Amino acid sequence: MIGLIGLGNMGLAMVRRLVTGGHPPLAYDLDPARRALAETAGARVTETAAACATHLVVLSLPNDQVVGAVLSALLPAMPRGGVIADTSTLDPLAARRFATEAAPYGVAYLDAPVSGGPAGAAEGTLTMMVGGQKGGLDAARPDLARIASRIVHVGDAGAGQVAKLVNNLLVATHLVAAAEALRLGARAGVAPDALLAVINAATGRSGATEVNWPRWIGNGHFDSGFSAGLMRKDARLAGALATSVGAPLDVCDRAISVWGHSGVADDADFNRVAATIFEGYR
Ligand code: NAD
Repeated sequence: MIGLIGLGNMGLAMVRRLVTGGHPPLAYDLDPARRALAETAGARVTETAAACATHLVVLSLPNDQVVGAVLSALLPAMPRGGVIADTSTLDPLAARRFATEAAPYGVAYLDAPVSGGPAGAAEGTLTMMVGGQKGGLDAARPDLARIASRIVHVGDAGAGQVAKLVNNLLVATHLVAAAEALRLGARAGVAPDALLAVINAATGRSGATEVNWPRWIGNGHFDSGFSAGLMRKDARLAGALATSVGAPLDVCDRAISVWGHSGVADDADFNRVAATIFEGYR
């Protein structure tokens, strides 16, 4: 039985996937309402994070501070040789620090952020990018493969988070670019559906035009399960990473600032930012 801490949009979808596959996890969340949902879904819910300690614990938490607090309770309870696969999106420097903190306990902390959203978690089709000890990943891989159909070891501790931030910087930038370009086409007299029919068969396509627009933005169904606040966190972390390694951003930096001033609430679906730009927020 694996442990799973953080039962939000992603964590609860992972619980459902594991239960459906016949592997119900030990599960914990600070919020009793989320614990109740996990219990109903078939997880064995615990009253503390430490009670989830087992050979493999998956984390799905909002930010560095929360992961740090959870690890300080969890690490002393972990068995030596255990693995923590952290699917949260975090600062790569924090991930490196957590791997160092876990080592004296004989625990491999892997930064293992994911792409694919709650739908990918529920279907077991997440892409997981892993930084940290290869041996820890080898041990955890059969369990992690129940939620992630593609698992790539990208390097040492922190490398998984670097890969995730690079990916999400592109998503954030593509969404802004697609919204502005489609607004241009619409104002020049060509409907978005006609534009997308062309773009998605031509060379301008991206995830924004092939997935986000048809599935969420174009039909007004803002239920992706990924919040604007979490995407802002990712964009901010990517910007800070660029500064720290001396990789100047120009176009992407503009996109990061658009995410900041679009006026969409942090708890709204992230696709609303593109919809707001398309409708003409200024
Ligand atoms: P969420 O806000 O829906 O869930 C976070 C959960 O963590 C909440 O249920 C909250 O109660 C719980 N939590 C907060 N503090 C806690 C603590 N101290 N102990 C235990 N639980 C605590 O977020 P989410 O959308 O599920 O995302 C989780 C992580 O995965 C984030 O880092 C996010 O950036 C990343 N991510 C999200 C998506 C997505 O599509 N939603 C996709 C890829 C990666």
